[in-house]
Amino acid sequence: MAHTLESLRAEVDSANLKILDALNERLRLVEAIRVIKEKSSSRLYSPEREAEMLDQLLLANRGPVSADELRSIFKEIFKLSLDHMKADTRMKLHVHRAEGDPDRVYTVRGHRFGEAPQLIAGPCSVESLEQCDQVAGRLAALGVGFLRGGAFKPRTSPYSFQGLGEAGLKILREVADRYDMAVVTEILDPRHLDLVERYTDVFQVGTRNMYNYELLRLLGQADRPVLLKRGFMATLEEFLLSAEYIAKEGNEDIILCERGIRTHERWTRNTLDLSAIPLLRMETPFPVVVDISHGTGRKDIMVPMARAALAAGAQGVMLEAHPQPALALSDSAQQLDLDEVDAFYDAVFVAGGAGPTSG
Ligand code: PEP
Ligand code: MN
Repeated sequence: MAHTLESLRAEVDSANLKILDALNERLRLVEAIRVIKEKSSSRLYSPEREAEMLDQLLLANRGPVSADELRSIFKEIFKLSLDHMKADTRMKLHVHRAEGDPDRVYTVRGHRFGEAPQLIAGPCSVESLEQCDQVAGRLAALGVGFLRGGAFKPRTSPYSFQGLGEAGLKILREVADRYDMAVVTEILDPRHLDLVERYTDVFQVGTRNMYNYELLRLLGQADRPVLLKRGFMATLEEFLLSAEYIAKEGNEDIILCERGIRTHERWTRNTLDLSAIPLLRMETPFPVVVDISHGTGRKDIMVPMARAALAAGAQGVMLEAHPQPALALSDSAQQLDLDEVDAFYDAVFVAGGAGPTSG
């Protein structure tokens, strides 16, 4: 009987289904093998076994599939099986983005975080009411909704300025309320939880405390967002696991902050890892912020690096600003003065087409 196009197509459809059934059957078998291998702690990947299977297939092949075609098809099938085994063994974390999980958006004092790019700016350290007021007034005029500032400062030397403590928190709160802004400030010590909670809207965990698991656990029980900075020596895996300490306790309002890591490079204060941005966004549903001040340590490249961060998918930029940077009690070399803040904002958020949202 002569074949018609329709009848041939029907046979192709049925051959496809057979291949699909065989693939699914193969994955089920591989799954059973994985369970046995895990019990005996054997390696999942066995190149010897793959070579053996390929030899068998080449011997059995009667064509028309060529030897090269067979090798390339089965290479894909072996890879599929291995990926499948590994995907199943990867532990599911609270911080992992589940399929279809939307990006998290937080509303903090009426300011939305996680949508249009936001700027979080303010002095490195809170030094006085006047200093904070000048910075916040200028930021508010630009429409910036998030005021940062350190009241407890983690300094490399114990003899450097350590921050104003509660007096600094009071200043931040007063000034933020004056300009309708949200406060982002660092908590250094688990013993300060109640105190800092009285004044801040977002808890910041600094780079040195990313490994402070007791602090992270406590913040996991808090009722407001945590901006977690990446440790300056931390891998992304370690960063994610630190976020997991917070999420596991129930607080999933997390903002991840890339602030540069320590490398051999000396022309910048830290090496800003831009690849962290898309990777963290793929792995988690949390907004990612880039601290352009600590991430570069130099004013002359902050604009291009901030633009690059936003282009890579960051939902925010953090920046340090001071009315007279030369007189600042900490990080004087990297803080922008207020005219420089205007220029930075214009170059990155206005000319760049991005702008904060509030509402
Ligand atoms: C800060 O942002 O005030 C700060 C101390 O940054 P880091 O923890 O990234 O050094
Ligand atoms: Mn600083």
